[in-house]
Amino acid sequence: MIKCPRTVVCYICGREYGTKSINIHEPQCLKKWHNENNLLPKELRRPEPKKPEIRTITAKGFYDLDALNEAAWTSAQSQLVPCNICGRTFLPDRLIVHQRSCKPKAAK
Ligand SMILES: [Zn+2]
Ligand SMILES: [Zn+2]
Repeated sequence: MIKCPRTVVCYICGREYGTKSINIHEPQCLKKWHNENNLLPKELRRPEPKKPEIRTITAKGFYDLDALNEAAWTSAQSQLVPCNICGRTFLPDRLIVHQRSCKPKAAK
């Protein structure tokens, strides 16, 4: 019997992947992260995201995917940088694009 496939959250980008494809995705995602991070201005560069180490085993002997996903999600969220004009959070490359069009209000 095949169980309902569970998804795993990537701790780098926060997107969901199947339990098999996450292993392929993670190294690629980290590589991409490094490429993008190197292109950013110094003040927007971030420390490398750390893979959350969760060793919670459920009663049935499986890893607690919910706890793992929650930690991965938090890790991915900490990659976001707030816009110093409007306070919304973005990935650093998106923030640069966003700030070109984000103007403080009531500047007259
Ligand atoms: Zn990813
Ligand atoms: Zn903004």
